[in-house]
Amino acid sequence: MADLTRLTISDALQKMQSGEISALDLCQAHLQQIDRHDSAIRAFIKVTPEIALEQARAADNARANGDERPLLGIPIALKDVLSTQGIETTCGSRILQGYVPLFDATAVARLKEAGAVLLGKLNMDEFAMGSSTENSGYFPTRNPWNSEHVPGGSSGGSAAAVAANMVMASLGSDTGGSIRQPASFCGISALKPSYGRVSRYGLIAYGSSFDQTGPFARSVEDVARVMAVIAGHDPLDSTSMPAPVPDYLTEMQGELRGLKIGLPAEYFAEGLQPEVERAVRAAADQLQSLGAEVREVSLAHAEYCLPAYYIIAMAEASANLARFDGVRFGARVEGSDLIDSYKKTRGAGFGEEAKRRIMLGTYTLSAGYYDAYYGKAQAVRTLIRRDFDALFAQVDALLAPVAPTTAFRFGEVMDDPLRMILADVLTISANLAGLCGLSLPCGFDEAGLPIGLQLLGAPFDEARMLRIGCAYQEATDWHLRKPALT
Ligand code: GLN
Repeated sequence: MADLTRLTISDALQKMQSGEISALDLCQAHLQQIDRHDSAIRAFIKVTPEIALEQARAADNARANGDERPLLGIPIALKDVLSTQGIETTCGSRILQGYVPLFDATAVARLKEAGAVLLGKLNMDEFAMGSSTENSGYFPTRNPWNSEHVPGGSSGGSAAAVAANMVMASLGSDTGGSIRQPASFCGISALKPSYGRVSRYGLIAYGSSFDQTGPFARSVEDVARVMAVIAGHDPLDSTSMPAPVPDYLTEMQGELRGLKIGLPAEYFAEGLQPEVERAVRAAADQLQSLGAEVREVSLAHAEYCLPAYYIIAMAEASANLARFDGVRFGARVEGSDLIDSYKKTRGAGFGEEAKRRIMLGTYTLSAGYYDAYYGKAQAVRTLIRRDFDALFAQVDALLAPVAPTTAFRFGEVMDDPLRMILADVLTISANLAGLCGLSLPCGFDEAGLPIGLQLLGAPFDEARMLRIGCAYQEATDWHLRKPALT
């Protein structure tokens, strides 16, 4: 039998439908892959083989009775930021050790309803703060292409698990790039949906006005299949958009003739690794040869994106993380009285980066500094949003690198929090403006590490980004390359 861990979702569904393979075969093959490789890669915080095998058997029974749900029998895993009923959910933090949610996040519930098989919970930077998964409260995850390099972050486990063929798809979250950047570092496809497209209910909050859940997979078509299941209004999330979801799989077909794609000059500025620039420009040429019109555009306020993002994200984080006090969720360190217990629990439970952000965020929200920092950052955010509104009146999509470099080495950037922040310079604008962004592989550097490009679209224009990505993957084979796992 062919290696079942290399199939796309589309192939696997077909083979299950024809009876060539079962969901149980598919599940066992992926569990075996986890067994073989996860001790080196460490993408998983928790593997759930019992649940997976039970769901796979149920999927086979259902299919035998004519069930054709869209992800029936497909092995997936979830970033540990997503609440899972009855399964420990740590958000990569020691402070949530032992926390078992009483409910599923809506995105998780929808995957289950669609028949997906859950293989486990994936590693991440603590509370999704970081770009390398080195901030995990447990252990770092390794890049399947080269174990001396980071997988990116904060959804490093979600990207590494798919890249190493341990699951067919995964979910992650993106507050400032945490879906797109690890996908790029690990050479796979992923989508950050527009703010409001996917429910945030049950997604443990970091920056509530930025956070979005989205899919990772082996191809853009597979990303669309997962997206079709998780997208759409949820009465449990007041920020989710009460608008119909397009049929991504149908709308993804079609040609690129007449589409206008802009290359923001500011995103090809100094500091880009030359191989990254070359690969992304070559992708632009490729899209042009497929019929798109490519031209240079400019983002007037690009240089203010980083400071505005970090001020707002830290302010929101300081408020969101206030609830973790050892009383309601997870771990608790007993003190002499209640206040002392709070202090000891938070002192022991949070890692350095979370503490730094809680303090900075509290500072920018405090009386006397609020107007100077938080208020100003919000005003800048409006200007950035307007820049994008103006651009999307001229072009249908923006094309840029996902990150200025390929995956860096462990420790290389970690010791300098400012450098880590600068690594996000190309992704955060999408979160500030609520845009959608598709990340997909477009080449390799000389060291053999993957390079990713991102297609940014106007809010709720995911279908068009998927169409461009799909056309690109039909014409190229970067997404078909696999790391040689040892
Ligand atoms: N690296 C960014 C941060 O630390 C983005 C993280 C994310 O998208 N969750 O804020």
